[in-house]
Amino acid sequence: MYNVFQVFQQKVLDEDNRCCEVYPESKNLDALLLVFSQAKETFKEQNEDIFKKIDCKLPLEELKEKMRKSEVIFPDASVKGEHVKNFLAAICDELVKNNKDFEKPLEHLQASVKDFLAEKDDNFAQSQIPVLVEKIVEETLSERDFVALLLIFIFSSLYYGPREDFLEEVDTTIWKGKFCPVCGEAPHYGFLRGEDRARFMECWLCGTSWRYPRMKCPYCETENQEKMGYFTVDENEVCRVQFCRECKKYWKIFNLEAYKEYAEEEDVLASMHHLHTLHFDELALKEGFSSGSGLKWVEEKDNGLVN
Ligand SMILES: [Zn+2]
Ligand SMILES: [Zn+2]
Repeated sequence: MYNVFQVFQQKVLDEDNRCCEVYPESKNLDALLLVFSQAKETFKEQNEDIFKKIDCKLPLEELKEKMRKSEVIFPDASVKGEHVKNFLAAICDELVKNNKDFEKPLEHLQASVKDFLAEKDDNFAQSQIPVLVEKIVEETLSERDFVALLLIFIFSSLYYGPREDFLEEVDTTIWKGKFCPVCGEAPHYGFLRGEDRARFMECWLCGTSWRYPRMKCPYCETENQEKMGYFTVDENEVCRVQFCRECKKYWKIFNLEAYKEYAEEEDVLASMHHLHTLHFDELALKEGFSSGSGLKWVEEKDNGLVN
């Protein structure tokens, strides 16, 4: 399964439309994804070197050894600040072309990013993604989900794009960790495979998925079933918010068996389902759980549920 932030094709638009059916409260993302994709193509044409494929294939034994030892394959990933700024400018230009009202807010956003990178010696490390999301939201009052998507799209395109061939082939069968074997991020969502209901967690950044025990919290690793629970929204069968009372974290699981009436299993993009179920995240926050991935996608609302 790949990530909507890396690959863009008709399949992504089809999944977007299906998700609108499955989650009627969510909005269609076609226009935004098309703008992102267009900006990427333009930027890529002018900066071929940045996107040149990197051969990072490891010998099979070395890869297995890393998996056995729970070692992350690309630790401490980072990209050049200059590339981030130029790519961001290309995306902003494209957004403004579509809607002039975005001009001022996006100038503000770019200035916020520029200041941040200047403080970091013009280097953007993966671990700084959530930090920069917070800074931009605070300084520019931009929508949190838009900022998160924008930064993930940029980082993922610049760092993981050139390593795409490796990502497509990486075998995570023997990985036992609770974090992503490729990039080290803690997951935010996953899926239940249709055929055997095996649970997989999927990385929100690089798109890698790995099998993880169904009865175990993916953050604190408790197996105490009394501490864990789930809820859904409007009786939706596909997405469930699962939570752990031990560590007070939540995550989302998409049930591929229930999704069968909409699409074939191989067409499922968990990352797209995630973007269409941010209202589930809002409810989880209201209930007092926090995002286990360390990246907050939605704003906390202070009007908690009436008990
Ligand atoms: Zn990852
Ligand atoms: Zn837990």
